[in-house]
Amino acid sequence: KIVVLDGYTENPGDLSWEGMEALGELKVYDRTPADKIVERIGDAEIVITNKTPISAATMEACPAIRYIGVLATGYNVIDVDTAKARNISVTNIPTYGTDAVGQFAIALLLEICHHIGHHNEAVHKGRWENNQDWCFWDYPLIELAGKTMGIIGFGRIGQTTGRIAQALGMKVLAYDSYKNPALENENCHYAELDDVLAQSDVIALHCPLFPSTEGIINKDTIAKMKDGVIILNNSRGPLIVEQDLADALISRKVYAAGLDVVSTEPIRGNNPLLNAPNCIITPHISWAPKESRQRLMDIAVNNLKAFLDG
Ligand code: NAD
Repeated sequence: KIVVLDGYTENPGDLSWEGMEALGELKVYDRTPADKIVERIGDAEIVITNKTPISAATMEACPAIRYIGVLATGYNVIDVDTAKARNISVTNIPTYGTDAVGQFAIALLLEICHHIGHHNEAVHKGRWENNQDWCFWDYPLIELAGKTMGIIGFGRIGQTTGRIAQALGMKVLAYDSYKNPALENENCHYAELDDVLAQSDVIALHCPLFPSTEGIINKDTIAKMKDGVIILNNSRGPLIVEQDLADALISRKVYAAGLDVVSTEPIRGNNPLLNAPNCIITPHISWAPKESRQRLMDIAVNNLKAFLDG
């Protein structure tokens, strides 16, 4: 028996559950409220969850559980210590969205460089203002070739963003606590954090949120950056001290920010970045192309198969 607690299946035909159907008696729920978790799992051996928490109490109340598959990279919704103690296998999916998230960082950057949304809207409102518009002069279009992208966190996603940046003619300076010299080339080098901050025209955050990285972008690190730097964050919101970034956007120390994540999601009405100039904010969607969601499903099926095969 396989129970999917939050399959987000509102869009029929969007994702295929066929692979999982072939592995057992499958029941998929769109979402599961906290008071229905135990009832829905019942005597199922296999539980699949995206964000629905599986606590120690749930594992206690549903002793048939042998395997929990998390449909996401982060598995903080599972009490892993209890799962281990009860001999329940837990798997996550760390790689499904690497290309999607790297591509999205570049999409944020290209939007900042070209203001396509703004100009498209103007044209649709009957204005053909290809050099009179305020946006044209206040926030000029930017060419990226020859500029330097600093990447903080040069793991899977950071490397993907770096490859696309190089294809656009940019140089890459990478800062990572773990260095892999094999990733360096003529246009891509590791550097210390202060050098990345001082030499980059664009800074992209791709490190995980740890105590050591929380608030890594703050008024002190911003002060070390070039005037007119662009900051991209589609990793985790708390990497940035948001008031400090808002102040820097207002003073134009920072030219623009492209953010897919904020400190509290959904964004609060009093988030200072909502009113900061030249700040693009999207609702944590970098991971979500159809291809990466299907990949998520395919890897989930493979994980479950591997468990069933012992
Ligand atoms: P990864 O583990 O492959 O890479 C992370 C890199 O950060 C590693 O190379 C690691 O050595 C480095 N790192 C760790 N601590 C550091 C520190 N203190 N300073 C500098 N570097 C440090 O992870 P990934 O797959 O590239 O994912 C990166 C992050 O992207 C995830 O942690 C997640 O927060 C975020 N993410 C966002 C979305 C989205 O939809 N917006 C989707 C998936 C992942």
